[in-house]
This record gives sequence, C-alpha cells and structure tokens, in this order.
Amino acid sequence: MRAMLLEHARPVEEGPLREADLAIPYPGPGQVRVKVHACGLCHTDLHTVEGDLPPHKQPVVPGHQIVGLIDALGADVRTCKEGDRVGIAWLHFTDGACEFCHRGLENLCVNARFTGYDVDGGYAEYTVAPAAFCYPIPPTFSDENAAPLLCAGIIGYRAFRLAGVRPGENLGLYGFGASAHLVTQLVRHQKCNIFVFTRSEAHRAHARELGAVWTGRAEDTPPELLHAAIIFAPAGSLVREALRVLRKAGTLALAGITMSQIPALDYSLLYHEKIVRSVANSTRQDAREFLELAADVPLKAEIQIFDLAQANLALKALKRSEIRGAGVLRIAATPP
Ligand SMILES: [Zn+2]
Ligand SMILES: [Zn+2]
Repeated sequence: MRAMLLEHARPVEEGPLREADLAIPYPGPGQVRVKVHACGLCHTDLHTVEGDLPPHKQPVVPGHQIVGLIDALGADVRTCKEGDRVGIAWLHFTDGACEFCHRGLENLCVNARFTGYDVDGGYAEYTVAPAAFCYPIPPTFSDENAAPLLCAGIIGYRAFRLAGVRPGENLGLYGFGASAHLVTQLVRHQKCNIFVFTRSEAHRAHARELGAVWTGRAEDTPPELLHAAIIFAPAGSLVREALRVLRKAGTLALAGITMSQIPALDYSLLYHEKIVRSVANSTRQDAREFLELAADVPLKAEIQIFDLAQANLALKALKRSEIRGAGVLRIAATPP
C-alpha cells in the first residue's frame, strides 16, 4: 500500500515524509482494518514530523483523523462489520485498568497508545485499530468533512468543556485554525460570545464570518473581559496575554500538546481564583458526545484538500497558517 512514512524527524521544509510502499496491515484480535478515504492534518502531526515531540515509533506513518470503511475484521470483533464507515482518532488504546481509566480519565491512561505516533496512522491507504476505538461517522458528513472532527473537533470540544463557559458568557480563542473554527460554530450554537485573537488578518476575517463578536491580536484589549479562554497556538507568551483579559474566577485552557516556554507571570494576573489548565488528549466519551453534537448543530468543517503524496507540502502550509479551516489528505485506496 502507499503510505507517507516518517523515518527521521526534520523541519517540514526538508520534506521529512517519504512516499513508501508498505505491506497492508492485518487486524489482530479485537481490531479492524480500515480502508482510509481521508485523513485530517493536525498540529500534532507537524510536531511529530519535526521532532518537537520525542519519537515513539520509528519509522512511523503519521495521521490520526482518519475516516474510511472497515474492510477486514480481526478475531472477536462483534461491535462492527465490514463496510461500516468509521473514524479513528488520536486515542488508539487504553488499558481500562489503571487509576486514571477507573476515574473516567482514560485520556491520561498510563498505558495509552496514540494513533500515528505509537502505532502507524492514516497517511496511508490502510490502517488498523481496536474496534472499541472506532467511532461511527454521522451520515451528515462527507469523508473529507468528517476528518477534521476527529481531533480538531474532539479536542476543541474537550477544551470547551474544561473551560466551563456558560450560555451568554464571553469565550476567547487564541489561534484560529482547524480546532478554533469548529469550536466557534459549536459555541455560537450554545449562545456564547466569541472573541478571537490571531496574528493572521485572513484568520480574523474568517472568524468574523463565523460569528465572532470581536477579533484582534493577542496584545489587543477587547471591549469586555472574558469568562474563559482557550489557547490553541503553541506560544507560551499567550498565557500572560490571556490572563490579562480574563475575568475573576475565569478558566484558561491550553489545548496544545506542546507549547513554548511560558514567561514569568506577575501573581496579580493569576490572583482572584483564575484557573490555568492544560487539555491532554480526549476520551472515547468526548468523541462520541462531540460527533453527535457536530451532526445536531450541524458543524461545517471548511477544508482544503491535498493528495496523500502532498503531505509534506500540506504540513508546510499548516505550519505557515496558510490553511483556511482544516487541511485534509484525500486517499483513494487500491483493493488489497
Ligand atoms: Zn489506563
Ligand atoms: Zn490531533
């Protein structure tokens, strides 16, 4: 099968992903094989190929926003069948046995494995995953439009939940990529006011089109303070800027998997019971709840489509904030 393979992490400008011909994987017990139709691009893919995250599996096929059709079942799979359309997300496996799994925090499982990082992911014609970690895709969405929901959407939803914003309140978003453009639609649906902070004028215009009540740069001061904020951009300096415009008792959620160093803060920025918290991965419950909600709203992912072989180019566009909405690789698989 065709796949884009990462052998050594390098800056994306150097084309770290190589087109490779790999053996089609076989599903083990409890697993399914999925013929991949589309795979979304995520900043985590960029952090993986550029080596901002320590390598786990090498070489590895990145990609963890996968939509396709089940085409083979491993032993003991009873919850789905060949031909089912499913999505596969970042969370590939949890042990169901550790302290965190027992507390309903399987996103923090001590034995968690992640798609496109610990195991091969979706920048390929086929992939395998445990049936218990595949999600039915609501028929409302095309393959390409569903792909960004599987990480940008789910993580955005978890960040929104953890930020604890209520109807009528003000939510700030820092960075306006795939996740933020979905969260904006979701949160507008919940009658919250969205304030968007981003350097890119194109992204500010996009945010206003989607109903943001105010847009500006991180160093600007909006006309009203925020009840909660989510930082999607991996820049630690944004923490200070966000705390500066956060109300008393407000929550600031950091949604990225990595962030540059956070500069020293004056305690007065944090005082009055403000909360700063990170968002790490997501649970299967998040995925199921979010996909249902996404179909109800319904969310419209704006996408820019690339061919599988263009993965390096697509990630470069992502790095430069040149993608409006979400980038998606379209993959037309040949039969095994
Ligand atoms: Zn666990
Ligand atoms: Zn992701």
